[in-house]
Amino acid sequence: MKSILHAAVLVAAMFLPAALTNWAFAQVAPGFSNSKIVLYEKEKGDRGYWRTGLASDSKQISPERMALRERMMKRRVLEQYAEFLSPLRLPYTLLMIASDCSGSEWDSPYYDPDNHLINMCYSFIAEAEKSADLLVQLQNTQKLWTPVSRDQLFAGLFASVLLHETGHAIFDLLNVPVFGREEDAADFMAAFIPLQFGTETARTVIKGFAYYWAYSAAQGQDPKLGTPRVNPNSPEPQCRLSFCSFSDEHGSASQRMYNVICLAYGGDPVTFKDFVDAGWLPQQRAQDCTREYQLLSAAFNKTVLPFIDQEQMKKVRARTWFTAEETKEK
Ligand SMILES: [Zn+2]
Repeated sequence: MKSILHAAVLVAAMFLPAALTNWAFAQVAPGFSNSKIVLYEKEKGDRGYWRTGLASDSKQISPERMALRERMMKRRVLEQYAEFLSPLRLPYTLLMIASDCSGSEWDSPYYDPDNHLINMCYSFIAEAEKSADLLVQLQNTQKLWTPVSRDQLFAGLFASVLLHETGHAIFDLLNVPVFGREEDAADFMAAFIPLQFGTETARTVIKGFAYYWAYSAAQGQDPKLGTPRVNPNSPEPQCRLSFCSFSDEHGSASQRMYNVICLAYGGDPVTFKDFVDAGWLPQQRAQDCTREYQLLSAAFNKTVLPFIDQEQMKKVRARTWFTAEETKEK
């Protein structure tokens, strides 16, 4: 199972029923269907937004999470994401759900290769909403980077998480060979795809992703940008030290932030120039980002592009995916 963060709840998928049968094709807008991308209903009519966690005996979600679920349903986030992915020609069905995952305080969204399923966990989204509120407050008191609105931050983060998990799904379902850490490659997919969809979409996703990691770093998981995460409670004594924390399959918060900004700047130096000017990305890294982007673009063109329906892609490109509020810069 491949998650965007540490895999604290990976056992969760074991509770999925052995035979997935309640498939509900995404209720998509006309012209945006893809029969291989399916919202998986646990209960008839839930549209893939489960009222429970994954365990068969899991309780109904709390009123707060129910309200969050309703906001997601109203915004049609899963349906719209299925529409966004409609040009992808997959050999197998990809399932998507939102659920309470393990029912814990906090779970990371993930892709489950055994069930070909992407799961967005409500607890992660609830925390992300809080992070967005705090970051915007912080912005009011300190001059931070480039300005960002609360809606832009949250929408960008939400999309980048789905794109990261889709990266894992694409590598798995299309059997794409990956050199290096798959977690890095999934981050690169999360940044590369929105760069193909115009300035507003690209900036919203990149900012949401980058701010999230900058914020994680500032929250003590990664006390200074550039310092590895330290875990004083690790069961392995040697991993209570910072050196060992680099052993994780994910990059540190700071590396994930810099990688994504570098890719964005390398792909579109005009649109992302302000990130370099504001010091988000050091000049020393920035000067080689075009080459980093070109390397990734060549890999994408060779391995994934043959599985994209170009006619459908034109329709997806012509559509606006974020609301006006979600692309507002401040
Ligand atoms: Zn991941």
